[in-house]
Parts: sequence; structure tokens; C-alpha cells
Amino acid sequence: MDLDAFRRAAHTTVDWMADYLRDLGERRVVASVAPGDVRRQLPNEPPREGVPFDRIRSDLDAIILPGMTHWGHPGFFGYFPANHSPPSILAEMVVAAMGAQCMSWQTSPAATELEQVVMEWLRQMLGLPAGFTGVIQDYASTATLVALVTARDQIRGPIDRATVYVSPESHSSVAKGARLAGFRPELVRVVPVDDRYALRADALAAMIAADRVEGLVPAAVVATLGTTSSTAFDPLPAIGPIARDAGAWLHVDAAFAGSAAIVPELAWILDGIEQADSLVFNPHKWLLVNHDCSVYFVRHPERLLRSFGSSAEYLKTQYDSSVVNYRDWGIPLGRRFRALKLWFVIRSYGVAGLQAMIREHVRLGALFAGWVDADPDFVLAAPAPVGLVCFRWAPGAGGPTGEALDDANRLLLERINAPGDLFLTHTVLSGRFVIRLALGHESTTESVVRHVWDRVRTAARDLA
Ligand SMILES: *Cc1c(COP(=O)(O)O)cnc(C)c1O
Repeated sequence: MDLDAFRRAAHTTVDWMADYLRDLGERRVVASVAPGDVRRQLPNEPPREGVPFDRIRSDLDAIILPGMTHWGHPGFFGYFPANHSPPSILAEMVVAAMGAQCMSWQTSPAATELEQVVMEWLRQMLGLPAGFTGVIQDYASTATLVALVTARDQIRGPIDRATVYVSPESHSSVAKGARLAGFRPELVRVVPVDDRYALRADALAAMIAADRVEGLVPAAVVATLGTTSSTAFDPLPAIGPIARDAGAWLHVDAAFAGSAAIVPELAWILDGIEQADSLVFNPHKWLLVNHDCSVYFVRHPERLLRSFGSSAEYLKTQYDSSVVNYRDWGIPLGRRFRALKLWFVIRSYGVAGLQAMIREHVRLGALFAGWVDADPDFVLAAPAPVGLVCFRWAPGAGGPTGEALDDANRLLLERINAPGDLFLTHTVLSGRFVIRLALGHESTTESVVRHVWDRVRTAARDLA
């Protein structure tokens, strides 16, 4: 493609993007395609000759777009949000144009130094103590693996005696990370939770004590601030001293809820963080930045470097003693220029703009939770402090109970999603099927949230 063709195609593609974002709400949230439908429309062999971009674009509209789930749709309330926003999209375009590989300071000094600056901005926004230093990783799963590998490299003694403490509500990436880091699966201890699904500090202390009597070595404790199922908050102020006394690495997974700590009245989210060794949170979930963009803060960068530093001759530069080389702060050598989208977004919205958005989502979550709570046919399945509401339909006298009630809720969720303008997902809490409403898109408004509640009640009435 020559530059004139690129310029023309780029202009029309930007129009395509703006139209897509404008009309998003009119599409189905989730594609109505069956497995294989998209693939069947595409040739199995690569084209021998190139085609003009217009033809590619028309196939994009005809084949690809109908097969997409639209995460930015105002009716998307599933899982956790995957944010994007106009300034973040612009940054991704610029980054793509420059095509730089930002592994070392020398391979793009501005990328490294901008990353240092936006990490320091985020540290201040979250109210983290001055000692914390940050690096951008791709996903929280990677950051947690990095934390567990670093923790492994601190232990004295053999790895087959080392224990890791998690909660049954920890994200699946935690157990996977422990396995990948080489910990024995049976030494990944699952600490019980309380009736709010938060890890019980007293149980953690007791398990660590019992393990030490057995001659086992506590290597890491993973605390979650805002669990994936229900945004439960493990009691970090109580967990911190227990981890420290045991000599264990304390990693904090705040992938979703961490962003909310930028709002002063929600700063309690990170209470006790000064005791953590590492923290991960995802601006790509709730800070208007396209994925991938996961932020990893550590209190001892030298320990990270000890585990992840690289020393190949061909990577050495004359600046190594005086600069940061982020290639040594994580797993892959190559690095995308992810700091630019954080810079574009934080400058476009300002801290106040981002705070206002999160504050509004939390208000809407509380509003919805209030409606659920006030309706005798529905129950809140867990506290809903940060815009994620877990609820169940539970029509009282004469209604279904036990597994029949689970089935009724499963059916209710299908009915809510059936028209295609809304998309909610589920989880299981205390063995029971629960519907989840996850807020966190720029486009989320009170009128859509009211629409969800109307749909929930209408669908329940129809089923009853
Ligand atoms: C979403 C989530 C993750 C996984 O995040 P990725 O960036 O997709 O790896 C991990 N932990 C928690 C608590 C999450 O909510």
C-alpha cells in the first residue's frame, strides 16, 4: 500500500470508527452467530494477489463485524468491562504508525521516560506510598505470574517445601501463575472466606502457623481487592502483618477495583497497601484505556530485576547504568509503547474527569443494588461497593428453592439477554447461581441501568 492509498484508506477508516462508536447502541451486544459461521465465509487459502483496501473494508462490514461482541456497547454489563475511549484509540493509531519496539531506553527513550512519568502519575492518583515504582505489563495474569516468580526467587530452601496462600475467590490466574512459577499445586493453600467472600485473616494466620510447624516455607500471600465474582475485599490491613511475620511476599490483585482508588471517598480500597510487595490493576478495565494495559507496582524493583534481568551481549547499551530498561522488568523482551494511551487519556479527561466517571458508575451500581434490595422478590447476593451488583431472583412464598431456583435464575438471565440489547453474565457464590451486573463503560447512563432493572422485573414476571 503506498502512502497516498494509506492516507485515503485511513481517512475513511477513521470515519468508519466514529460511525461505529456513534451507532454502537443499535447493534446486538453479542453476535448472533453459531460456531463456524464466520470461518465458513472466509477462504481457506491465502489470496495470491493483493486486493484494494475497499474490498477488505467491505468484507470487514459484511463478515467480521456481525461476528463481534461489542464490549463498548452501552448495554454490555458482562464479566468486567474492557474499556476504550477516543483518546486511547488515537494513541493506539499513533503507536501503530511509529511501530517502535520499546524494550530498552535506547530503543525509544521517550517511550521509557513517558512510562516512568505516567507510572508516577498513577502512583499519585492511587495514593500509593512514595517507595512504589511501576511498570506496564500486558495483562494482570502476567503481572501476577511475575509476582509469584519473584516471590519464588526470594525463598530460602527448596521450592517443594514452599507454600502460597490464596482465596477460593482469587482469580483463576493466581493458581495458574503459582503452577507456572513451579510451586507444587497441593502447597497452594486455599484460605477460607467469610460471609462477604473476603479472605479470613485469622484462618490465614492459623494455616501459616500449621504449615511452619510442618517445616514448610511460606513464599507468597495473594490478596484480592475486588474479587472477580463479587468484588469482595480481602482485609489487607490484617493480612499485611501476617505475611510479613511469615517472611512471605504479599501480592495484591486489584485488577478491576484498583482504578476506583483514584476517587478520594473510595481510597479505602487500598487501605493497608503500604505493606504489600506488589500490586496490579488494569487501566484497561476501568480507566478508559484500550487493552492491553495492566499496571504493576513493586516496592523493591531490584528484586524484580534479579528475577527478570537479561544480560545478552547484543542487548547491552552504553546507557545501561544510568537508565531504566523495562525489558528487565517482565517476561517478554519486546514491548509495545503502552504508556502513550495512558498519557493521552489522563491528559484528555484529567484526573477530575476520570474520578467523575468512576463516581458515577459507583452511584449507578448503588442505585441498582437499592432497587434489588427493596424488591421482595429479589436478593443481593453480596455487598456491592464498587458498581458490580450480584443478585438473585428469589420469589418468596410458593416459589422454587435450591436447584430449581438456580435453574429459574439461569432462565431469567437468558430472558434478560434474549432481545440482544443487553448482556449480563453470571457467577456462582456459595454454590448458588447468581446474576452479575458489571458497570464501567464511558457510555453507561442511568437510563440504561433503569432499562436493565425494568427488563429484569418484566422477565421475572413472565417466568412466574
Ligand atoms: C480481570 C481480573 C484478572 C485478569 O485480568 P487480565 O488482565 O485479563 O489477566 C485478574 N484478577 C482479577 C481480580 C480480575 O478482576
